[in-house]
This record gives sequence, structure tokens and C-alpha cells, in this order.
Amino acid sequence: MTDCLFCKIIKKEIPSEILFQDETITVFKDINPAAPVHLLVIPNKHIPSVRGMDESDEIILGKLFSGAKAAAEKMGIAETGYRLIINNGPDAHQEISHIHMHLLGGGNMMHPMG
Ligand code: AMP
Ligand code: ZN
Repeated sequence: MTDCLFCKIIKKEIPSEILFQDETITVFKDINPAAPVHLLVIPNKHIPSVRGMDESDEIILGKLFSGAKAAAEKMGIAETGYRLIINNGPDAHQEISHIHMHLLGGGNMMHPMG
């Protein structure tokens, strides 16, 4: 998608702090961190949301978990813990229509959520 912010980040058309990128996923720092560690783990394919995925995307989206796991190890928060969040649609305040997994950690978080 030519006018998608995250597609532009993947293609390095706009700057971001990319920690990891392979042929399937990109991991980069959230520009407005909500926790000491706040990364976004996204597929390189433009999939708008969970609602916008189809079954053929299951393998790609599974790789978001592997990417988050590796990123948490790299950031030193694998043992202390972290939260993975995918906001979908207006009630969840999904602002960018390119599916993204938030990886939040580095400090104790609010409980319960919501
Ligand atoms: P969401 O509300 O789930 O759609 O989350 C969108 C996230 O993208 C927010 O946490 C923003 O801070 C983040 N964000 C927006 N623009 C950028 C950018 N240029 N680089 C990195 N993160 C961004
Ligand atoms: Zn996109």
C-alpha cells in the first residue's frame, strides 16, 4: 500500500529505529513509547487488521510471535515479562491500518487491562 505509514517504514522511505528485519517481518521502536521497552512487530505484507486477514496469512502472522520472542530476548525482558497487544478497530483505538503487535515491557504493568 503506497500511502500506508508502516509500509513506508518497511521500505525505509521514512525513518524509524528498526531493530530487526527479514523477508517476512519488521521490528522497530514505537515513536511514542508507553513502556520502557515498546516495540512494534509487523508483517512486511500489508495486512490491515485481524479482521482483514485470511487463512493464507496464518503462517506470516505466526512469525510475529517468533519475532516478538526474539526481540524480547534481545531487549533483556524475556524473563521479567512483557505484554503483546494487537489493537483491532475503533473501540481498541487501532490508529494504523497495517496489523501490528505491540511489545511492551521493562516495568510492571497495569492489571487488570482494559
Ligand atoms: P495502534 O493504536 O495500535 O494503531 O498503534 C499505533 C502505534 O504506532 C502507536 O503506538 C504510535 O505511537 C505508533 N507510531 C505512529 N507513527 C509511528 C512512526 N512513524 N514510527 C514508529 N511508531 C509510530
Ligand atoms: Zn501497510
